[in-house]
Amino acid sequence: MNLPIRAVQQNIKDGTTTCQKIVTDYIARIEAHRHLNAYLEVFADEAMARAKQLDEKLARGEKTGQLFGCVIAIKDNICYIGHKVSAGSKILDGFTSIYNATVVERLLAEDAIIIGRTNCDEFAMGSSNENSAYGKVLNAQDNTRVPGGSSGGSAVVVQAGLCHASLGSDTGGSIRQPASFCGIVGLKPTYGRVSRYGLIAYASSFDQIGPFTHHVEDAALIMQVIAGRDRHDATSSSKPVNSYAENLQFNKKARIAIFHTTLQSDGLKPEVKQATENLLNQLRADGHTVEEVSFDLLEYLIPTYYVLTTAEASSNLARFDGVHYGYRSPGANEMETVYKKSRTEGFGKEVKNRIMLGTFVLSSGYYDAYYSRAQKVRRILTQQLRAVFKEYDFIIMPTAPSTAFQFGEKTSNPVEMYLADIYTVLANLVGIPAISLPLAKGGENLPIGIQILADNFEEEKLLAFSELLMQQHAVAQ
Ligand code: GLN
Repeated sequence: MNLPIRAVQQNIKDGTTTCQKIVTDYIARIEAHRHLNAYLEVFADEAMARAKQLDEKLARGEKTGQLFGCVIAIKDNICYIGHKVSAGSKILDGFTSIYNATVVERLLAEDAIIIGRTNCDEFAMGSSNENSAYGKVLNAQDNTRVPGGSSGGSAVVVQAGLCHASLGSDTGGSIRQPASFCGIVGLKPTYGRVSRYGLIAYASSFDQIGPFTHHVEDAALIMQVIAGRDRHDATSSSKPVNSYAENLQFNKKARIAIFHTTLQSDGLKPEVKQATENLLNQLRADGHTVEEVSFDLLEYLIPTYYVLTTAEASSNLARFDGVHYGYRSPGANEMETVYKKSRTEGFGKEVKNRIMLGTFVLSSGYYDAYYSRAQKVRRILTQQLRAVFKEYDFIIMPTAPSTAFQFGEKTSNPVEMYLADIYTVLANLVGIPAISLPLAKGGENLPIGIQILADNFEEEKLLAFSELLMQQHAVAQ
């Protein structure tokens, strides 16, 4: 089970399986795992029809795409024409996408099969998937625990073997943290590497789409399909996209930086600290250089992130007004109450908290104290990391301070929930790529993700090093 995509493609070509058989098997498994609540919708008939077309295409001897036969799930904030998309929110109830996200276009152009849309925290705001208007997602390994968030559904469908791979979005850790909690690979690309066209915006200067997979090779393959310039997204980069999956050999010794403060942080669970230190020791023993670099801004990361992202969210979410999209309050009959009631009834508690916080930090009188200041911190962080990457290939730190926690454990205290993102928001603040790899296990056999960060547009190097780490130090999940 859970073979790499290219091995599956080989099996199809050898005639030991077919796209139709693969989809049939996944649909049966999905049925058997309904209780996880990871899929909001399964496109069963459509996926079967597409599988049939793909089998016929192969039989005709036509050239097949890079993701031929690959069964992929997409987070419920990525638009797929003619399909519902809700961002886990009641306010988009009944809304159907009127165009395809660029990532969807690119997956389909390479013969992938999109099998369904996955549950997530409302508007991607959360770290546990408990903020979805459509119920929580269960961690497949231990159903009393959260899968992480906000892309919890996308993580669990891969964890539980309900598709080959999935797409999530990562604004402050929403791919890496659930990957860590579910024992799989999760990559947040460099800001601008993947088009955001058709991704429902949370915080536009932070959001990126990326893959969840079992194998680094699969993450590399999906990345080379979805990355690259898109004329619909002015922030997408025109830098050429490398053949990541063809270049997974890392043949040198890496220079690795670690930030002392990340391993001394109060909230860090001893087992996660231990796992990270063990890996660093192994890397030293393998001949890589691991050095401590000073970094004294750790405590500023969460406040800076929450000031800036809530500011952007308050603006992005203004469009959900009961008029343009989805839900309109049945009790509203004139303009002002349409706005008020639709938003009051349509948005969940956490989203409202953030809209209010964001509106506050942008309000006149407070703008300079919060928003401008946070922008300055963001700039300083970027400068500091530029300097680190002049001397080092990677920075290594835990992905999250703990393993998957219990439902309800952090819901009463938002600050406690926000601290779950302490190690992930840095990459989004600075725009750099970062990956979570399932390289350790903690108490009760729960997975521990280790995070590797690289410089802008160094996905190729990051993926190659990740492949090496997985080959040499992966633990059975
Ligand atoms: N947990 C973080 C938040 O709630 C990150 C979310 C994300 O990356 N979408 O904002």
